[in-house]
Amino acid sequence: MNPEAGTLAERLAAVRASIADACRRAGRDPADVALLPVSKTFGADVVREALGLGLHRFGENKAQEVQAKAAALAGEPVEWVLIGHLQTNKAKMVAAHASEVQSLDRPELAVALDKALQARGRAIDVLVQVKTSPEETKSGIAPDRLLPFLDELKAFSSLRPRGLMTLAEASDDEERVRACFRMLYRLRDRARDAGHAVDRLSMGMSGDYALAIAEGSTEVRIGSAIFGARTYKA
Ligand SMILES: *Cc1c(COP(=O)(O)O)cnc(C)c1O
Repeated sequence: MNPEAGTLAERLAAVRASIADACRRAGRDPADVALLPVSKTFGADVVREALGLGLHRFGENKAQEVQAKAAALAGEPVEWVLIGHLQTNKAKMVAAHASEVQSLDRPELAVALDKALQARGRAIDVLVQVKTSPEETKSGIAPDRLLPFLDELKAFSSLRPRGLMTLAEASDDEERVRACFRMLYRLRDRARDAGHAVDRLSMGMSGDYALAIAEGSTEVRIGSAIFGARTYKA
C-alpha cells in the first residue's frame, strides 16, 4: 500500500498483513515477529491516535523528542523504546522515560545509562546495536567486540541485555541487505553459545522487513509504512 494513502488504521492493518505474509513465505509463525511502530518526527497527536488503535510501544530516536511527547501524553500507557544513537549526556533523560533501549552500542553509554537508572531505582531491557553494514554512517558495536561487551554488561545491574539490533546496509542489492541480517543472526548464536540470554533480534524497517523476517528477525521497527513519510525540521 502507498504509505501516504488511507488512514493510520488502514496502513497499520496493511503492514500487519504484509508481515504475516512474509512470515508465511519464510515458514515462520507471525506470532514470533513483533512489530515496533516507529513514531519519530510525528507528534503526540499521532501517537495518541495510534494508542487508540491498540499500539502502546513506540520507537523513537531522540531523547528530547521522547521527553516532549511523554509530557504531552502524561498518564497514557505508553512505552518508549529508544532506537537512535544516544549521547551520554542524554542518559538522565533516557532513564526518566525509556522502557527499553535498543541502541546500546558502547561501554561509555552503558556506564552513563546504568548510573542514571540506578539513581532512579530503575532497570530496563536493552538490545546491543551491532554494526553489520560497512557504511560509515551506521552506528553499532563492531562484531568482534560483541562478546566482550556482553560480558562487560554483567557489571551493570540496571541494564538487562535481551538481544541484538542492527540496521542493514541501504542497498538495492538484496544479497547485501540479507548479509547484514544473517550476520546478526549468527552473532546471536555465538552469544547464546557463550551463555548470554540474547534471544531477540530487532532487524528490519519499512524498506527491508520482509528480508529481515526471512533471515530470522523477531522484531521489525516500522515507521514510514505505518505513519507516512517523515519531514525533518531543521
Ligand atoms: C527511523 C528508524 C526506523 C524506521 O524506519 P522506516 O524506514 O521509516 O520504517 C527503524 N529503525 C531505526 C533505528 C530508525 O532510526
